[in-house]
Amino acid sequence: MLVLLLVSGVLYLGWDRFRAFEAEHPEYFPWTPLSLGDPVGAFTDDKLAALADDAPHCRSLLAKARTGDRPAPPRRLSEPACGYEDGIEIGSAEGTRLAYGRLVTSCPVAAALALWERETLQPAAQKHFGERVVAIDHFGSFSCRRLYGRDEGPFSEHATADAVDIAGFRMESGATIPIVRDWPGDGREARFLREVRDGACDLFRTVLSPDYNEAHADHFHFDMAAGRPAGWSMCR
Ligand SMILES: [Zn+2]
Repeated sequence: MLVLLLVSGVLYLGWDRFRAFEAEHPEYFPWTPLSLGDPVGAFTDDKLAALADDAPHCRSLLAKARTGDRPAPPRRLSEPACGYEDGIEIGSAEGTRLAYGRLVTSCPVAAALALWERETLQPAAQKHFGERVVAIDHFGSFSCRRLYGRDEGPFSEHATADAVDIAGFRMESGATIPIVRDWPGDGREARFLREVRDGACDLFRTVLSPDYNEAHADHFHFDMAAGRPAGWSMCR
């Protein structure tokens, strides 16, 4: 598949023009390095997920994007399935980030959120409301718990800070858009929320919204589940 893409691109454009096109649209190609300044393409989610194996590279991408994020101290618990080594304190310094209050996530989640803010959230806010989002309300990231809060079974991605639960948005005008209130119906708030949910599906491995089940009626769950094959994603 990749070889076919390369060969047909080179045959069609010629080598030099192919390389120029590749440099102009790195998001179209699986082999180009990720930059958080690029638009979102078909391979962006795989490149973000791969950052889990390269924490220094992930931190350098955030630094280059001037998000104002800072490394968080490692967190280790007596439960070995819980904790993280390479957490990121989101927007703790002056930077391009929206306001999140206090939030620590894994580095790939922080990187995916940065792209989502710029490429999905702000364009959708301009389109539907003609103004910017200034802050994100959330229910946090790290939580040492199993899926659905059960006593047995696999641990949630929250147990390693590889997930974040988004509860709603605050606009420049002071208006708020809580998911629990504004998801139902088909008003402009509801259309905005569906659009930003769908945009997250191009970046995160798993995206769950109120469409999924009652447990998600008041938030979006975004996660970067580790160990999934490239191309795997779930968007409900
Ligand atoms: Zn969650």
